[in-house]
Amino acid sequence: MPCQNDSKREADDVFTQAVEGAVKTLNLAEEMLSKAVKGLGSDFDIGYTGTAYNLPTYYGLTGKRAEKLRDLHHIIEGLRSCIKPQPSLENALEAGLTALIASEVIEVIGHTRRIVPSTAPSLGFIQDHTLRELGVKLVSGAVVGIAVILGKAPEVETARKICEELRAKGLLCLLSGPVVEQVFKAEVKLGPDYLTVPLGDRLTSIAHAANLAVRVALSFGGVKPGEKEKVLEYVKLKVPVVVISLGPLDETTVSLGFGAIALGIPLLSDQWVPRVSDVLAYEPDYGRVVDKACEIRGIKARKVDVALPIGFSPAFEGKRVRKEQMYVEFGGGRAPYFELILARGLDEVEDGKVRVIGAELDALPEGGAYPLGVLVEVAGHGMEKDYEPVLERRIHEIINYGEETWHIAQRDAGWLRITKEGFRKGFRLHHLGLMIYTALRRDYGEILDKVQVTLLSDEEKVVEMLETARRIYASRDTRLMNLTDEQVEEFYSCLLCQSFASNHVCIITPERDGLCGAQNYLDAKTGYRLQGAAGPNRLIKKGEPLNALKGEWKSVNDFVNKESHMAVPRVHLYSIIGYPTTSCGCFECISVYMPDCNGLIILSRDYPGETPLGMRFSTQAGIIRGQTPGMLGHSKRWIVSRKFFRADGGIKRIVWMPHELKGSLKQDFKRRCVEEGVPNLYDKVADETVVKTLDDLTAWIRRVHHPVLELPSLMS
Ligand code: SF4
Ligand code: ZN
Repeated sequence: MPCQNDSKREADDVFTQAVEGAVKTLNLAEEMLSKAVKGLGSDFDIGYTGTAYNLPTYYGLTGKRAEKLRDLHHIIEGLRSCIKPQPSLENALEAGLTALIASEVIEVIGHTRRIVPSTAPSLGFIQDHTLRELGVKLVSGAVVGIAVILGKAPEVETARKICEELRAKGLLCLLSGPVVEQVFKAEVKLGPDYLTVPLGDRLTSIAHAANLAVRVALSFGGVKPGEKEKVLEYVKLKVPVVVISLGPLDETTVSLGFGAIALGIPLLSDQWVPRVSDVLAYEPDYGRVVDKACEIRGIKARKVDVALPIGFSPAFEGKRVRKEQMYVEFGGGRAPYFELILARGLDEVEDGKVRVIGAELDALPEGGAYPLGVLVEVAGHGMEKDYEPVLERRIHEIINYGEETWHIAQRDAGWLRITKEGFRKGFRLHHLGLMIYTALRRDYGEILDKVQVTLLSDEEKVVEMLETARRIYASRDTRLMNLTDEQVEEFYSCLLCQSFASNHVCIITPERDGLCGAQNYLDAKTGYRLQGAAGPNRLIKKGEPLNALKGEWKSVNDFVNKESHMAVPRVHLYSIIGYPTTSCGCFECISVYMPDCNGLIILSRDYPGETPLGMRFSTQAGIIRGQTPGMLGHSKRWIVSRKFFRADGGIKRIVWMPHELKGSLKQDFKRRCVEEGVPNLYDKVADETVVKTLDDLTAWIRRVHHPVLELPSLMS
């Protein structure tokens, strides 16, 4: 057993290594910079594509931006002066942060000079829109955490196993250093869709994991750039990320490891390290690495226990199955298809029963499109008819959780593919039933006691049942469409995003979805029924309104005030001016009131191009925080709600929106125009195909006699 002196010496050794590593990284940064300056001149513009956060780690921690190559000189000089060589934990942590920022400098020079990583398809910098998507996945629980693998595994096979285990347990895996080449060789499926993202084959590419964590603090946590302590605190408490360092520890790895720790990210190494910090752990057993990493960061890894011949995990959700990979497909407009969940009596359902009526996959010639009906019958003491569509929409995700199964759309428009690989591994239709059964029983155990699944592949039966299914869809739609805020006694909240945006509260009513578009009134109601007041969906007894036009209730104000930790004492649900609701980071659209044209310009996450605001969606999204009068993040559906900014003139206020968004809402938009007495409004709303600048827009409004001309200014 080492005596105290020995362990002090060992600790001092790693502290010294951290400092040496930081100096080495700084030297490398300097060398790359002078080369870049020689080639491009010190006035050359630098920066990453697709971010509003400049060099995010540097910007987040200091509040300063770097725009030109020459600015990098000042950064490097500043970092050098922070280095203190005496071996101590404090100095090692500081050196670590220095190494991370120096890595960011190296990476941004590489990015600017378009030095592409030499091996596998590395992503390098992760753009803001990917970050947002990831944020939504983290909040919804589809992804439970992020693991950054740094270094090199002893064997290619070990690298593969660790990546696959992480993915199966629901973690996003970011890879930095030689491990990238290893997973490439091992033919691990790579890319954001597979939750396995190579950042780069240089160790300094870990900067992209660091700047991801910092941007989560800035964009979801409402932390301002330059509030260093708050950034560090936020990452430590709220961003579920952990670093797994594999292979021998040289100075560079040690300093970057300390950098992670300084940033608030725990570190696990497969090499023995003196335990100089309680968020530094050692695990030599590769079979235990993933569990241990989750443990030190408090990540609840997902259990995977279905008896299926293919992988089954949220990690597979985003993948695609191309025609060449497909064994057979169902529906998709090529053959009759439906999926339907029905609530039945307890004695009408046999729990766990999965039936295939018609041919199994073996009898279907490869490459064809076939009819399919997915009928799920559920029963339980807590089950209500209202929950049927909520459960039914889950089928889409559940099928996509399958490694070899792919699904889009829903109801009778559903489209399902099974891969050749899946068929070869032994996947059959009844496994599809098993997937649905398992996921529903696991996630809705509170309300469901019994679930049975019938897969109809017999064309005649599908066609027959399809009629019934369509009647049911239509009656559900009518019911939900006609449901108004006035008719219900209760509203619900969603507080899911508070894990990122601490003071954000979504208020969900029949006519107002959550701003991410993923929670409507029935979802929130079901959520409340499943988890009660312990979950994110809480019940608000509406009571009498204080202002019916603006949508203000005392009950809602009290609720928002309490749940926003008194940051937001008052909200108007139907107005963008004064007291709009809060915006976290997940909104599908942003409405901005432009006094110059007296109208609303709507930006959409799906349209990354220029807008008449002179700002793209991503930039605008970076500006909007909490309660911002004149701006609001919202769902797509909100645009066609009867309550859409009713107090501000409603749909008549809209002057510009992206072409695609407009098209996707066309039918409902036109219906709303008729309801509001402006039947021609749809064609008077400009988009990027007819209007580019604010001047164009003002001219357009006059030319088409847009009804906004008759509305009062909202500025008075
Ligand atoms: Fe976040 Fe609101 Fe969506 Fe809930 S409804 S996940 S709080 S954006
Ligand atoms: Zn959110």
